[in-house]
Amino acid sequence: MKKPVCKSCFADIQDKSLITWLSPKPILCDRCLGSERRLMRFSTQGKHKIYSLFEYASPVKDWLFRYKTLNDFEMRSVFLYPFGWTLRLLAKKWVFALVPTTGQAYRDRGFDHLEEMLGYVGIKAVKPFAKDDGPSQKNLAYGERMKVRERISLRGPAPLAGKKVLVFDDVMTTGATIEACLDLALEGGAKSATGIVLMENLGMNIHSHISNL
Ligand SMILES: [Zn+2]
Repeated sequence: MKKPVCKSCFADIQDKSLITWLSPKPILCDRCLGSERRLMRFSTQGKHKIYSLFEYASPVKDWLFRYKTLNDFEMRSVFLYPFGWTLRLLAKKWVFALVPTTGQAYRDRGFDHLEEMLGYVGIKAVKPFAKDDGPSQKNLAYGERMKVRERISLRGPAPLAGKKVLVFDDVMTTGATIEACLDLALEGGAKSATGIVLMENLGMNIHSHISNL
């Protein structure tokens, strides 16, 4: 049987660790799995709790660039691979709701990067939020990013009413987008709303706290 190849470094994957040995379809080699900088901690954003899986650093940052910017669809599998069973357990009681992508970003990429990431580990997420097309967020200064809130809304009548909601996004920088979604979820009748992000951009957050003083 052909040995699987690591999707990060392209080396053959050897059964050296328990996770690689137990996985029916290993995706990353043990060296790449070991180089992820996991954060796995809660922080607060406004009145909400946000759980961050990784630091905003290589290699996960580079994987996200390949996936989101270079449209490398194969990379959908690498991000949540070690967290699959935990997330599936959460999905039994919580609804995963995706932070919205603008129609333009979706058309440019050809897939919903968050939906595919969660879908790979067997989680069907809902998309209760809508976001108007506007300037790309990475080109916006801090004050401008805060206006993001005005471009996000809930779709349809009370899509999250009575539900325990986990709002999912890839990168939290100022936190404005995820905070807006969490506020909307609660205003829309959700029983609880907590954030989960792939990466927390710590450098940017420290900067934004300072500029708020
Ligand atoms: Zn590797």
